[in-house]
Amino acid sequence: MFKSGFVGIVGKPNVGKSTLLNHIIGEKVAITTHKPQTTRNKIMGIMNAERGQIVFVDTPGIHKAKKLLNTFMVKAAVGTFADMDVLLFIVEAHSPLKEDDRLIAESLQDIQRPVILLINKTDLVEKRKILPFIDEAQHLFPFTEIIPISALTGQNVDRLLESLWDLLPEGPQYFPEEMFTDSSERFLAAEIIREKVMMLTHEEIPYATAVTVESFSENERKPVIHIRGTITVEKNSQKGIIIGKKGSMLKEIGTQSRVEMEQFFGTKIFLELFVRVRKDWTRDERMLNELGYRIKK
Ligand code: GDP
Ligand code: MG
Repeated sequence: MFKSGFVGIVGKPNVGKSTLLNHIIGEKVAITTHKPQTTRNKIMGIMNAERGQIVFVDTPGIHKAKKLLNTFMVKAAVGTFADMDVLLFIVEAHSPLKEDDRLIAESLQDIQRPVILLINKTDLVEKRKILPFIDEAQHLFPFTEIIPISALTGQNVDRLLESLWDLLPEGPQYFPEEMFTDSSERFLAAEIIREKVMMLTHEEIPYATAVTVESFSENERKPVIHIRGTITVEKNSQKGIIIGKKGSMLKEIGTQSRVEMEQFFGTKIFLELFVRVRKDWTRDERMLNELGYRIKK
């Protein structure tokens, strides 16, 4: 039986969401990409196993929304919970349940989905201090399970995974395996830029072009992603074509890329593009590798 499903992760900033994901999926595969059809949730990583596929989704915004007292935003965030098969609510073992945690728990009241409480960072506290914490949490919400873990050391993460497999329904493989092992956000961004170069230029240009994304950084405070990309061509003449009259072509490539990225990633994009010449890169194996083209042996 193949099981699959979406697992939403909720919790205040810094409770260890990314660390947990990295532990489960491993950095190589812990690629985050955004589901194009939703702007609020983003896929943090996908676990592919023989018994199934687990899609981990970041469900942000809930406590921020509460802070802004924006009930519409809260409703929207809670609405996304309903798309999940299981929710993981992460808190920190060394800090007592705070107002924010209570607000999150409150917003989980009506979703009718299993919610697992993860008490993370247990490596920072003495074992005997965790029991009263569990007791307190039990009064807060009817959690399906409460699991003390350490995302950093990996303690009890296996137990969490066992619980997830138990709770997930039989289902399809939502995403092809290669998709998330091979293509990172950078790769997807580069592909969008490359496509625009292809569409907007002609003749030898498309084949002489490689696009790399050197920087892809999300802003913690503002919903904007800063992307820096480089278009590599073989000759100065090609560079001239890409840049265009007074930079008009590069500007057009940039604008069209940005618009598509904003749709795809569901957030504002700040895009910087550079053009450089690397003589004969298309014939140089090492350079091809550098530029992300894998040569099949
Ligand atoms: P996020 O904002 O929820 O994604 O939190 P991060 O995963 O970025 O973690 C925030 C900080 O907490 C980082 O410095 C992590 O190294 C640390 N951290 C996460 N999990 C643990 C844990 O189990 N034990 C300890 N000691 N630190 C942790
Ligand atoms: Mg994080």
